[in-house]
Amino acid sequence: MKTLSATITILTASVILSGCAPNTKEKELQTFITAHVEKIKPMAKETSLASWDAALSGKPEDYDKVSKLTLEIRQVYSSSEEFAFLKDIKESGRVKDARLARQLNVLHNGYLKNQIEPQLLKRIVDLGTEIEKNFSTFRGTIEGKKVTDNEIKEILKTETDSSKREQTWLASKQVGAVVADDIIQLVKLRNQAARKLGFDNYHTLSLTTREQDVKELDRIFNELYELTNGPFAKLKAELDRMLAAKCGVAVTQLMPWHYHDPFFQETPMVYELDLDAYYKDKDIKELAAGFYAGIGLPVESILANSDLYEREGKNPHAFCTDIDKEGDVRILCNIKNNEYWMETILHELGHAVYDKYHDPKVPYLLREPAHIFTTEAIAMFFGRLSRNPAWMQQMLELSDEQRLEIEKVSSKYAQLKQIIFARWDMVMYDFEKRLYANPDQDLNSLWWQMVEKYQFVKKPPGRDEPDWAAKIHFTAAPCYYHNYMLGELLASQLHHHIVHNILKLESDEDVGYVGQRKAGDFLTEKVFEAGALYHWNKMIERATGQPLTPKYFVSQFVE
Ligand SMILES: [Zn+2]
Repeated sequence: MKTLSATITILTASVILSGCAPNTKEKELQTFITAHVEKIKPMAKETSLASWDAALSGKPEDYDKVSKLTLEIRQVYSSSEEFAFLKDIKESGRVKDARLARQLNVLHNGYLKNQIEPQLLKRIVDLGTEIEKNFSTFRGTIEGKKVTDNEIKEILKTETDSSKREQTWLASKQVGAVVADDIIQLVKLRNQAARKLGFDNYHTLSLTTREQDVKELDRIFNELYELTNGPFAKLKAELDRMLAAKCGVAVTQLMPWHYHDPFFQETPMVYELDLDAYYKDKDIKELAAGFYAGIGLPVESILANSDLYEREGKNPHAFCTDIDKEGDVRILCNIKNNEYWMETILHELGHAVYDKYHDPKVPYLLREPAHIFTTEAIAMFFGRLSRNPAWMQQMLELSDEQRLEIEKVSSKYAQLKQIIFARWDMVMYDFEKRLYANPDQDLNSLWWQMVEKYQFVKKPPGRDEPDWAAKIHFTAAPCYYHNYMLGELLASQLHHHIVHNILKLESDEDVGYVGQRKAGDFLTEKVFEAGALYHWNKMIERATGQPLTPKYFVSQFVE
């Protein structure tokens, strides 16, 4: 402990060393932050509550209220005077206090992305809405007959006639031609907005405001590409043989429509793996609650505020929301006792414990996950357990024979699922980066170059259509897709670190984390409590001893 006089000496010394007004910028910033938080905190809470109510009721007037409140928050962040003030402080380089500097970053990014001039922003939002509307109302046709997305999915999963598969795949791409010109226009408008803010293009702006760097992402994705190349070629050759046999064609005749979804982003259903039988007589809510309590991350108070079962009008999906950053964390689910919902509730509760177990002493603006992908990583880390044989055996009290039965296919399935998704995510990341760099290039052939390079799927001869435009994410969630992959990488890196360094085991063969308090304590201490106190890569380095790397994803799923 320091004595009072020592403290005074230090203070005096620092005043002398750095001139007469050492902390003016810091003081100004602190005053700004205090006022800002006072204003934004009740607004954010009201918006979260309104959005929760709307998800439960499904009423248009409730959704209107959410839009109104969201717009009010956006207006706060669009103030050009306040942005100029923050920019000036940031550029002065005078903010030395680490916590203040982090808060400054969060604020600066929050304002920066809202500095698009209102006229241009309106055109961007309107065009985006228009495209999304076209997406949701368009129906492809097979021989003149309209088909829904679900029908397309179903046919691609089961049909064995190649020409019917081709017709179906073509139907799934028809929307591309309807929206492509508008998407290119939207990309150009977004680029225009980004250039006015001093960035090369919108892709760079998006990454920067989320504290990501193109060079760093390129490095990670390149390494992942190199490490998965050989194993993917091998796995895919095996898969291709099965798919070709099923449709009675030669492997060399396989076309994009022989895979089981329009983009080959999911695992084709060639391995029988039905885990639902193990869950159908269980109460998955109780299983999840029991599991989380056992690793020292109790979720009772979260579940008490949550809404877990299907109801008329309610949002049919699942999400987690941190209402007030003061402990009111909720999840929305539509539980049925099957494997899908087991994974989903574990996933959403993963987001929830991250939010719940932030350190309340961390400043309000930093009381959130280090990054959108780090919370996704925690959710994936726990969601993966619903198929983990060791976890299933312990939680569901299975016999050794039953566990063996699961093991036979589950590891193969997990491997395929992860590697297929990884290769697909590379297409999305690389294409989108190039799309924003030059929207005037031949995008139709660029798309197939990417698909052939990463997914080893052949372009149909002579095909020159905007197949890329059939992916709604370019419109609805721009420059975001890479975060799914980064989440998977981090989930594996944390898993590896916990297994080897926290539980001190040689292998993860028997690891299902059931009753492993040490795992929960580690995550709380190194990940959850820190919130956004550190840049995401710094947080990862503090937690695992090294920055984000694809190495452990590869050792878990690929090798
Ligand atoms: Zn999630």
